[in-house]
Amino acid sequence: MRVLILGGTTEARELAALIAGEHHVITSLAGRTTSPRRPAGEVRIGGFGGVDGLTAYLRDAAIDVLVDATHPFAATMTRHAHQACQASGVPGMILRRPGWSASPGDEWHRVADLEAAAGLLPRVGRRVFLTTGRQGIAAFAGRDECWFLARSVEPPEPPMPRRTEVLLERGPFTVAGERALIAAHRIDVLVTKDSGGTDAKLVAAREAGVPVIMVDRPPLPAAPTVPTAEAAATWLRRLPDR
Ligand code: NAP
Repeated sequence: MRVLILGGTTEARELAALIAGEHHVITSLAGRTTSPRRPAGEVRIGGFGGVDGLTAYLRDAAIDVLVDATHPFAATMTRHAHQACQASGVPGMILRRPGWSASPGDEWHRVADLEAAAGLLPRVGRRVFLTTGRQGIAAFAGRDECWFLARSVEPPEPPMPRRTEVLLERGPFTVAGERALIAAHRIDVLVTKDSGGTDAKLVAAREAGVPVIMVDRPPLPAAPTVPTAEAAATWLRRLPDR
């Protein structure tokens, strides 16, 4: 089969590596990062041009099945993928890693979006470890009572909070490293999105008694959804021949 994987995540790369011997794999990347980790198989880069553009791509590239393995917060791409699959009749599925849950003793504040997260500052904390990604930093602009350690892969652009130190780093991160960051910067609140995956920062925050403001995931469309690359590969194997 010709499989289009909407990527940009570890799971997307894992799936491409798993199925590259069985299927013709094309991974699509948005083109946000300057040196992305390249998955196995073919790679295309850049937006499709909305639902219509993706629908046309599915037809022109003779795609048999689409796997949306984008990040849990890439809500627009996920919505477009669902609509393009419906419009074209190409079967689609979602590979989405599970979210995180609090452990006993954790102080977590779950909020619906970044604006609500910013609204809890400075009440919950003033020295903020912000790991919501460079595209989300604008929501915290104006929170000048707080100091921010903002970590992202690519440099964030203004507007951003006046007192911000930017840390350009790409994971995976270790508990020891996160512990050291929290201590060195006297962090008293962690603001993050419920991305799931490696939870080193949450373990380190738990150890240090640092509260967490956790932005909830956007809802998923009604499509088959699996939590791991292995489960996605199995789902593809069971798909009737097209
Ligand atoms: P988004 O807001 O949901 O998507 C905005 C637009 O970007 C889409 O309408 C589409 O443009 C294009 N796009 C997004 N993902 C694409 C892909 N895999 N291939 C081709 N075009 C894509 O997406 P986002 O949150 O900016 O995320 C962009 C990429 O970064 C995704 O691949 C995602 O997996 C990855 N990522 C996101 C986050 C995050 O926190 N959001 C974190 C880590 C990695 P058109 O309408 O023109 O098709």
